[in-house]
Amino acid sequence: MHFREEPVTPVYRHWMCEQVGCNGELLSTGEGITRLSTRWKHRCGKCGHEDWADATYPRVAYLPIDESSGPMARCWASEVKEPRRRF
Ligand SMILES: [Zn+2]
Repeated sequence: MHFREEPVTPVYRHWMCEQVGCNGELLSTGEGITRLSTRWKHRCGKCGHEDWADATYPRVAYLPIDESSGPMARCWASEVKEPRRRF
């Protein structure tokens, strides 16, 4: 087994509500739907807006120290910008 290790920065990632004028946070309700993969329901604590994600938020995420380069940077960006699907 061969390892390559690199330092990362842990961050506490909050999913902020995207409704105009709302600065609330989407929190996992603990409710999930499994189709091809499990989707978790979240609700804004301020306006009640509901949305789904394939992970529960808030959550701890690990960022590479150098975010501007390397394949990891693209990986994290795609997690943040995941497509929004409605059920
Ligand atoms: Zn909201």
